Amino acid sequence: MSRIGHLAKAGLRSVAGFIWPARSVLTGERHGGQGAIAAEDFTQLRFLNGRGCRSCAAIVEIDLGEDSLCGACAAKAPRWDQARAAIAYDDASRQMILEFKHGGRRDGLGAMGNWMTMAGQDILEATDYLMPVPLHYQRLAKRGFNQAGWLAQAVARRSGVPAMVDGLKRVKPTQSQGGLTARQRKKNVAGAFKARARYRKQLEGARITLVDDVYTTGSTLSASTLALKQAGVANVNVLVLARVVRDRDVTI
Ligand SMILES: [Zn+2]
Repeated sequence: MSRIGHLAKAGLRSVAGFIWPARSVLTGERHGGQGAIAAEDFTQLRFLNGRGCRSCAAIVEIDLGEDSLCGACAAKAPRWDQARAAIAYDDASRQMILEFKHGGRRDGLGAMGNWMTMAGQDILEATDYLMPVPLHYQRLAKRGFNQAGWLAQAVARRSGVPAMVDGLKRVKPTQSQGGLTARQRKKNVAGAFKARARYRKQLEGARITLVDDVYTTGSTLSASTLALKQAGVANVNVLVLARVVRDRDVTI
């Protein structure tokens, strides 16, 4: 078994040991044990575990494994090569993700990093650097953290693939994508990213896996991919914690 395969198995065991929480990251309820998720809540999470469409991680009706492709990607391939997601963004995962994303709640981070490493096992085998989607410095200053950066570091710790946490920068302060339609999102982030000049040598010909918390329409990831390709990156893949699977969640 590959190195990451072994690590992922170990990750699965540590996830199993992670389910007795002080306070559940899913429901916020207090529990007697330790860890981030209560056993009864854990079963509600929908683990995509890297399955679904190879290009965008959307759930497909008939999963053909390595050949799975959704209708949208078959019609128009994304800019990046492949995408993997750990869990579905749904009613069960919403609170955990929002507390993490906006509240900076870190106690589920280890488990999330494990899930993502398992989901992205095959693309991580062919990755030189993990790279988080950046926040604009104004938002970073306000919020104080970049949750995508935390996830990239968590996956780096688990997988051994190095994270280049500041490889991309936001060159324009974009409006939050929350509440925007797919078309508005695309326009909002167009030209928003640039690869940092000081990493020019490392990025030339490199294989990058972009890391983000939620894949909604893919517009942010697409704009990030374009910036990396313009910097000479050879191959871009995508690894996210959660994938939006329902149309009504597109405006989160
Ligand atoms: Zn797809």
